[in-house]
Amino acid sequence: MIEEGACEKLPRDEEDFAILGATPAFAEPLHVGRPNIGDRERLMERIGGILDRRRLTNDGPLVREFEQRVADFVGVRHCVATCNGTLALQIATRAAGLSGEAIVSPLTFVATVHALQWHAVTPVFCDVGRQTHNLDPASVEEVITARTSAIVGVHLWGRPCAIDELTAIADRHGLALLFDASHAFGCSYRGRMVGSFGQAEVLSFHATKFINSFEGGAIVTDDDAFAEKARMMRNHGFEDYDKVVCVGTNAKMTEAAAAMGLTSLEARDRFYAANRRNYDAYRAGLDAIAGVDLIDYDESELCNRNYVVVEVDESAALSRDELQHVLWAENVLARRYFFPGCHRSEPYRSLLPEAGLRLPEAERLVRRLLALPTGAAMDPTTIAVVAELIRRAMAEAPRLRRRLQATHTDAHPSVAA
Ligand SMILES: *Cc1c(COP(=O)(O)O)cnc(C)c1O
Repeated sequence: MIEEGACEKLPRDEEDFAILGATPAFAEPLHVGRPNIGDRERLMERIGGILDRRRLTNDGPLVREFEQRVADFVGVRHCVATCNGTLALQIATRAAGLSGEAIVSPLTFVATVHALQWHAVTPVFCDVGRQTHNLDPASVEEVITARTSAIVGVHLWGRPCAIDELTAIADRHGLALLFDASHAFGCSYRGRMVGSFGQAEVLSFHATKFINSFEGGAIVTDDDAFAEKARMMRNHGFEDYDKVVCVGTNAKMTEAAAAMGLTSLEARDRFYAANRRNYDAYRAGLDAIAGVDLIDYDESELCNRNYVVVEVDESAALSRDELQHVLWAENVLARRYFFPGCHRSEPYRSLLPEAGLRLPEAERLVRRLLALPTGAAMDPTTIAVVAELIRRAMAEAPRLRRRLQATHTDAHPSVAA
């Protein structure tokens, strides 16, 4: 059953827009990243088992099973599960022994960059490719200095980085190579699963991700020593019952999270199918709207299609921000991922006030990108309505723009009452 979230469309005059005072198109908000939910009974069974065993955390059997399943799926020897992706990033940064500077994309969720800063590694922002939205290998080479210790790639929207090129650059300069694969669990690169590249890759199983464990994350790697270090750091630096051998933190995944993660992982074929179907529905609905381009995915690779992202360019009748206001009024909570870019968020904005000058493509993209709701809670009928709203909004732009200019300045849109 995929169509669990078919959303009620309220009756109204076809010509109206909520921003002009009409009833919103949807009674309930449509969220980007509404969680995918696996089989409830299986989840409850697993939770029951946890309570029966009275083993709630500390490397319990479900965490170990989850780690094994994830490692097998990705095709690596080690998976170290954590309580979230951010701590997995922090641990990976420390386990890789990073220092000085690390090269990173500004077009990512801020946690990628915070993990470096948290460990006192200076993030050096590097521009992204206009089409790929990922680190541009030529620009990476330009920002390498004597202080550079690593390249941290992000497979944005589930589209893998230029992994071969980045690997060659890292090898040539003796740099560590890590990937934030939070968006790309279940995606492949040249036929091999994402998660198996670089020294290690980091996954997130946050509620909004393709596969979730409520909150959760993991470090995946083929490097035995790296995995061992990460495992100890995850648990306060304990090597054994009462032997602490390094600095550590508490980043352990709970059994309840693993129960959800296992159940979610088992349902992945349904999630792949729902996202594929949703993507195709958006593709059909948004076809030939001037200035609104849906990003594509490489059809020859496995992809979770967990992000439906459009670029709204200068030729569109409404700007990205205007379109977002119109959609929010209709209860379509489209998101400006990742506005305004990490380089324009604190503390980086103050530390590196000029960074934007070297990042023309990222600066361009943060003004154009808009993520639309998808996932197993969306369905093609709802998507057809969303797409039609976008088409009509663009067609009736002058009328909408007048209203927007009268009522909104730069304020972020709020949810319809
Ligand atoms: C979700 C996400 C993270 C953080 O993961 P959490 O599990 O939420 O801590 C890091 N990087 C990217 C690109 C993400 O999308």
